Amino acid sequence: MIVVLSGGVGAARLLRVLRRMAPDEEIVAVVNVGDDLVLHGLTICPDLDTIAYTLAGLSNEETGWGRRDESWRVMEELTSLGGASWFGLGDRDLATHLYRSQRLAEGATKTVVTAELVERWGVPVRLLPVSDDPVRTRFSTAIGPLSFQEYFVRHHHDVTVSAVDVEGADLAHPTPDVVRALHEARRVVIAPSNPVISIGPLLAVRGVHELVAARRADVVAVSPLIGGRALKGPADRLLRELGFGGGHAAVAGAYEGLLGRLVIDESDAAEAPALRAQGLDVTVCPTLMGDPDRDARLAAAVLE
Ligand code: GDP
Ligand code: CA
Repeated sequence: MIVVLSGGVGAARLLRVLRRMAPDEEIVAVVNVGDDLVLHGLTICPDLDTIAYTLAGLSNEETGWGRRDESWRVMEELTSLGGASWFGLGDRDLATHLYRSQRLAEGATKTVVTAELVERWGVPVRLLPVSDDPVRTRFSTAIGPLSFQEYFVRHHHDVTVSAVDVEGADLAHPTPDVVRALHEARRVVIAPSNPVISIGPLLAVRGVHELVAARRADVVAVSPLIGGRALKGPADRLLRELGFGGGHAAVAGAYEGLLGRLVIDESDAAEAPALRAQGLDVTVCPTLMGDPDRDARLAAAVLE
């Protein structure tokens, strides 16, 4: 079994790449739930949905979120009523949140509802929310405290962050499926997701950091930075603002005590000697996903 610690887009893309080299039934994504929110009375799980939509071929590749072939009639009507419309929810996407919310109200866990959705959509790999307990990532910022989606969507992650807290993480438990997967995996992969706000909240769930640290020799992280920058989103900015510095050393710092190996992009080969001098095992290979030949080399490097 290959366990992939996952946020949203970066993880979805890596999972697609790993499927080239490993059988689907061996791939398990353990997914962050710190971004989850309740809006319009509906439970929305952005990272789980991003991964499921991407692997089922339902995602909007242009926006990087939501469904393709989407329509917006509900949102238009909601806007005309003066309802909260800053968080875009297309009509097809809304059906996911309606289904999930109803099943949760009936007493199903997030794990069970995810398995049901994944089966209907034909998602080929297992998706496990890291916890079925409520976990909420919160930001202390220059303009005051913000919820995840207020920070990320409403303010376009364009405010200075002084602290990230994961509310509920110390009371939340990883699910039994997650604990078993982390024990049994032959390889634990940390996807090139945002270390601070995608992987950090996942590791913050009680006991998860320790479970991953215990597997250190088998842990491989793919860095989300290329040329010091995130391809999209605030990973490099947040690493700096929270004191980890810049470059792949910042990623290694965020994962201190967890990494058996770090995979960095070939264009950043010059950073490898300094990382190795700190005792880190580093693999240099293409990490920009989307080209079949490069993707095959990345999958081989991760699974080697
Ligand atoms: P979100 O939860 O949907 O915002 O996304 P994630 O946290 O899972 O992933 C965001 C990160 O993915 C960004 O920091 C990107 O740099 C990284 N990312 C996206 N595509 C690629 C890629 O092809 N290669 C690498 N190395 N990183 C990527
Ligand atoms: Ca996310």
